[in-house]
Amino acid sequence: MENCLAFDIEGFVESNLQSFPIDRKYISRKDEDYEIEHNVDTVLKLLDEADVKATFFFLGRIGADIPHIVRKTAGCGHEIACHSQDHTRIFDMTQERFRDDLIKAKKTLEDVTGEKVYGFRAPEFSITDKTLWALDILLEAGFCYDSSIYPTSFHDVYGIAGAKTSIHKLPNGLVEFPLSVIDLFGMRIPFAGGGYFRLYPLFLTKLFIHMVNRESPCMIYLHPYEVGPMIPKISGLSAYRKFRHYYNCANGAERLNKIINAFEFIPVMEILKRRNLLECPSTIKCSR
Ligand SMILES: [Zn+2]
Repeated sequence: MENCLAFDIEGFVESNLQSFPIDRKYISRKDEDYEIEHNVDTVLKLLDEADVKATFFFLGRIGADIPHIVRKTAGCGHEIACHSQDHTRIFDMTQERFRDDLIKAKKTLEDVTGEKVYGFRAPEFSITDKTLWALDILLEAGFCYDSSIYPTSFHDVYGIAGAKTSIHKLPNGLVEFPLSVIDLFGMRIPFAGGGYFRLYPLFLTKLFIHMVNRESPCMIYLHPYEVGPMIPKISGLSAYRKFRHYYNCANGAERLNKIINAFEFIPVMEILKRRNLLECPSTIKCSR
């Protein structure tokens, strides 16, 4: 069974700025871009050694600020997708701002690589019951698929408890590739990325992937600072925040390496094409 490995490309500070207060002295676009470049380089090297192609959800602002890293990722054969303009959660935006930012981000990334961008992931999976309007705007803006819906009630910020757990077409025609969860004891437990990936023992993550793979592909996601060597140390965080955001980051590359060598991974667009969920766009090379 093929799976998808996705990277949401953002710096540590911009990733967490809406989750907890971060002192101004840590907010520097220059430092953040330096961190992103180095960590993405590590990710690309690791994937190249394992001969794995992934999907990279880039911020539009990264396409504008450090375009060479987007080009380098595309040049390595990975799929370039969109992770919004500047990592603002959708439920903090008006529909008009979401539309404008989305179009800007998509165009920036397409101009950088010269290839169409088909996929979208909302910052912090912020397509929930309150922001389902975003799915129609994605379609209008020319996206073919979304991968933002976490079908769980496990988290305080995101999730749609009753949403479908496997790849499917939405009523408006957009394809949804939800984040992977496992049904256990009547609960849908998230497991396949970010903090969950770092927190759970590796054997459990592998077991859950095998269980999901009985029926459908998994969507595994990580951030560059969870794999690469650079992560800013923010002082004054509570023990809970330290644990939640830093635990196992130092072992990220080794843990990811074990996963990518144990399962098959291909970009989202390849999965959708193999499953006849999309017409094969001429700008994306088919493997068959
Ligand atoms: Zn993100």
